[in-house]
Amino acid sequence: MPQQLASMIDPKALPPSLWADTVEEAPEAAPLDGDVVCDLAIVGAGFTGLSAALHAAREGASVVVLEASEPGWGASGRNGGEVLPGLKLLPEEICGLMGREAGEALVAFAEAGPDLVFELIERYAITCEATRAGWLRPAHTKSAEDGLKENLRQLVERGHAAEWLEAPDAAAQLGTDTWHGAMLDHRGGTVQPFGYARGLCRAALQEGARVCGSSPVSEVKRAGDGWQITARGGQVKAGKVLLATNAYTGCLSPGLNDRLALSIMPVSSFIVATEPLSHNLQKTILPQGQCFSDSRRFLLYGRKDAAGRMLLGGRGLLREPRGPDDFGHIEKALRQAYPMLADVRISHRWSGRLAVTPDYLPHVHEPEPGLLMALGYTGRGVALATALGGAMGRYAATGDQSHLPLPLTAITPIPFHGARALYAGALFTWYRALDALSN
Ligand SMILES: Cc1cc2nc3c(=O)[nH]c(=O)nc-3n(C[C@H](O)[C@H](O)[C@H](O)COP(=O)(O)OP(=O)(O)OC[C@H]3O[C@@H](n4cnc5c(N)ncnc54)[C@H](O)[C@@H]3O)c2cc1C
Repeated sequence: MPQQLASMIDPKALPPSLWADTVEEAPEAAPLDGDVVCDLAIVGAGFTGLSAALHAAREGASVVVLEASEPGWGASGRNGGEVLPGLKLLPEEICGLMGREAGEALVAFAEAGPDLVFELIERYAITCEATRAGWLRPAHTKSAEDGLKENLRQLVERGHAAEWLEAPDAAAQLGTDTWHGAMLDHRGGTVQPFGYARGLCRAALQEGARVCGSSPVSEVKRAGDGWQITARGGQVKAGKVLLATNAYTGCLSPGLNDRLALSIMPVSSFIVATEPLSHNLQKTILPQGQCFSDSRRFLLYGRKDAAGRMLLGGRGLLREPRGPDDFGHIEKALRQAYPMLADVRISHRWSGRLAVTPDYLPHVHEPEPGLLMALGYTGRGVALATALGGAMGRYAATGDQSHLPLPLTAITPIPFHGARALYAGALFTWYRALDALSN
């Protein structure tokens, strides 16, 4: 599997996206040049790796981050930029899986993710179009309202700021009556994600970490009490190593951590953005500046950017897109949801990979002492990867497991992972059928 993926992904090329076109200058991340010794080496400079670097450095650890391309190259620089609290599963479902105490601890940690993101943005003066206007969760059918209302009940019970909008109010906020009622979670917000990734990188550098771009790691092996990491440009000897490669695990260096790659399902998400909307359309569509993601199994998510472009994203093909036609289904969904955008030009189309786990929970592993891994955010990684990366960084620096919001578990490869394209294809068809039936 990783071999196939490797042939489709070029870590040297920065994928085109709205975010790449509108981001501020990149921080200095010179390639590794020679051998280095440090406390913690981190593979991958997305939100997980950069936040881990920042938090470990703040604890006094010497940190080197090794990134195959440039910081933010992966999902972190390409996502929808929706800063969302919580996990995919409802709090009660998580408690059912993990037990009440552990479940509530993880829920509280994930619900606080956006607070950490906006706190870091403020503390390090990160320029990333940050807004905190809330997150709408519209129901795609009348019956889907029940599940959202149950979600709302569980959030309000835990003291979180969220409310229900009946269909007319939801339509006024969304700028369309395509959906039914909606939950409004006031804690959500938006960022320019590539700008946020670059800002996190700058913050990590400011705290003393070293970040090396264009330094793909090809081998991680035990050396005495610590680890030896071989990257293009040199070797790093580190007391501990954190793999923060998420859905790109194994894609860029086939053979590296195949077992970890087999424990997640890499899923593609595709986004389109329009040219900036007219003043009138901007006043009609998402006038308060919220982001949204709807209740479909293959959910649609959307928002405007700082220039007033409309963005819509959703699940894409299993392979990398080859041209505009591969985004046809998202463009169709955009024009169906917002018929007034029929004549507005699409200026950007791009995609990236996120990692889904079988239990929809993030996973942390330490298969051997000092070999750490964190991944699997199931589409909620802006806040969750920042938070979990931070927790892993603090754990790596201090050895104190109480920093971790969930237990370290064994890596469990998904059975028949090699047949995942077949499986995912069947699931895709099945979910689409269910979504269509419930319309
Ligand atoms: C299109 C899209 C839209 C999304 N929208 C949202 C959203 O709106 N809100 C939300 O919360 N989440 C969203 N997500 C999910 C979110 O972006 C991810 O969960 C999050 O960015 C994961 O961060 P990460 O640091 O773990 O992984 P990544 O950002 O993917 O970083 C992994 C890094 O590892 C590097 N790497 C891999 N192998 C090697 C190697 N051998 N050597 C060195 N480096 C290596 C890669 O180059 C990459 O930079 C979206 C994802 C996608 C793809």
